Amino acid sequence: MTTSGTGPAGANGAELSVITPVYNESNNIEDLLARLVPVLERCAASFEIIFVDDGSTDDTLECLRAAHHTDPRIRALSLSRNFGKEIAIAAGLDHARGAAAIIMDADLQHPPELIEIFIARWREGYKNVFAQPGDRSLYSPLRRILTHRFYKIFGSVGETSLPEGAGDFRLLDARAVAALRTLREHARFSKGLYAWIGFKSIGVSFDAAPRLHGKSKFSYRKLTHLALDGLMSFSTMPLKVWTFIGSAISGLALTLATFYLIRTLISGVDVPGYASLIVSITFFAGIQLLSLGVIGEYIGRIFAEVKGRPLYLIEERVGIGSAVADDHLSRPRSE
Ligand code: UDP
Ligand code: MG
Repeated sequence: MTTSGTGPAGANGAELSVITPVYNESNNIEDLLARLVPVLERCAASFEIIFVDDGSTDDTLECLRAAHHTDPRIRALSLSRNFGKEIAIAAGLDHARGAAAIIMDADLQHPPELIEIFIARWREGYKNVFAQPGDRSLYSPLRRILTHRFYKIFGSVGETSLPEGAGDFRLLDARAVAALRTLREHARFSKGLYAWIGFKSIGVSFDAAPRLHGKSKFSYRKLTHLALDGLMSFSTMPLKVWTFIGSAISGLALTLATFYLIRTLISGVDVPGYASLIVSITFFAGIQLLSLGVIGEYIGRIFAEVKGRPLYLIEERVGIGSAVADDHLSRPRSE
């Protein structure tokens, strides 16, 4: 009954694969399932829920094993360590075999009820249905300001345009999932990748809820790292900008040189000020180190890519066979 190219059910018979990355979320899993499972039972012929345990140190994995025991449609992958949410999502997508995949957080900030609207849109033919939170006030004012700044900067320098506020909570048709699987980059910025693959897309607005239990797993350090990954994987502007800065400074230096030459010719040799010399030397040393640093950021990311390490390693599978298994060891695939 779906307009998706893969038909109503994927290779494992499930129509929908829900992917949820979890990092120390044992307190939330039960509540999430209590709300999510009835929604899925109502609106999908069949489904699987794939939890990707991103190296949790609490009893998240035990909770997932127990959940699978009571309901085999609940499955889990346990990564060998904490690889980060972006990579945990990639692991989930690699193992999703539904005709559509839904990505959502475990902390109930993403209301499961919205999935019904996602599915309705998918059946209308949209392959990339994303949720747009109307109210970001759930995060601290500082995080909101920085997020807003980041989207503004990304909008002006990024080579892919991001829909306002669209995050990971979304439905992807199996074709979009297959496209994402071919993108094996390590410095992952999923929000950019969802936009980069294209496909017929539509936003659905919603009000994000507060996190149910626990605290956000994203420190400002992690968020900064993610923002840099995003900017550097979708823009070369930070590299190019030094050409303009360099030209402007050279132009200024040339003008100053001409000015001093003429002044010396007219009024003789002047004794230059010590302070202005020191200031200009340190200023330009700073500029040079800054530009080197930006180049270094890119080289570091190139290094991470050329090493060709797998994106993640799986330590345990709960209800997920290894037929699809060692996909995670593959290099970029030609599918
Ligand atoms: N998460 C993860 N690995 C991490 C950090 C977070 O799998 O290293 C998961 C986390 O368990 C949750 C989702 O990613 O299901 C979103 O995390 P969180 O709610 O902390 O992020 P925020 O809402 O603050 O952006
Ligand atoms: Mg959250």
